Amino acid sequence: MSLQGKTAVITGSNSGIGLGIAREMARAGASVVLNSFTDNEEDHALARGIAEEHGVEARYIQADMSNPEACRALIEKAGACDILMNNAGIQHVAPIEDFPTAKWDAIIAINLSSAFHTTAAALPMMRKAGWGRVVNIASAHGLTASPYKSAYIAAKHGIVGLTKTTALETAEEPITANAICPGYVLTPLVESQIPDTMKEYDMSREDVIRDVMLKRQPSKEFATVEQMGGTAVFLCSDAAAQITGTTISVDGGWTAL
Ligand code: NAD
Repeated sequence: MSLQGKTAVITGSNSGIGLGIAREMARAGASVVLNSFTDNEEDHALARGIAEEHGVEARYIQADMSNPEACRALIEKAGACDILMNNAGIQHVAPIEDFPTAKWDAIIAINLSSAFHTTAAALPMMRKAGWGRVVNIASAHGLTASPYKSAYIAAKHGIVGLTKTTALETAEEPITANAICPGYVLTPLVESQIPDTMKEYDMSREDVIRDVMLKRQPSKEFATVEQMGGTAVFLCSDAAAQITGTTISVDGGWTAL
């Protein structure tokens, strides 16, 4: 599968799944645009490292995905966007009555609204190029719920709906829109949930991983960032040209339960 000549913009890609996707896109020959809200030397070094390893063009563009104008400016600054991967995301865990309003607003802005803004900016570029792929990183929590993650689950169900609408609005064009629904992947986002869960349930790290996190993942294994990247590359292939408006679960059987 060669994505040579295509430019992939991956939001929230200086870490975790986004970085894994960027690496697999570059391995497939795409030029990549990495992004996060920071503007550190390490961010730009990540892009340089990918460019050197895969012989592709790779850039890092700072943009805060909680800011609608910045979301649209990211796509404009990229200059081309054949492949849009909406991946930026944050998490907060609390019962609804204690859930801070600011956290709710930030999660809806970063995990859901950013994808609306980047998609709105990218579709005209895809139409002009005569080809496009939108891949939204939803979650098993875009299809099922868990307690204490109200904002995250609302945002992830929302992005599955946005994916379907994007697919219908582009259905007669060579553009597709799909969502990947990962189960648990051991990234910094998931690592950061372990200490609180250990405290909440008075459990060891190993017990939290096995009995809480992977409780609903029948494979009893974390999915990997490479598997997310491989699935994203598949969705950009010719074999996936008629796959649109759907979700692909990479969750070790979670949503089969
Ligand atoms: P992560 O914390 O490693 O990565 C999140 C990325 O989003 C980082 O690059 C971070 O810098 C970026 N980000 C956060 N706020 C941002 C902002 N305001 N503007 C721009 N970028 C911002 O976490 P991850 O696990 O790799 O998560 C990536 C995506 O995958 C998220 O949408 C998450 O909901 C989803 N997901 C993760 C899992 C999992 O188990 N790790 C499961 C299902 C879905």
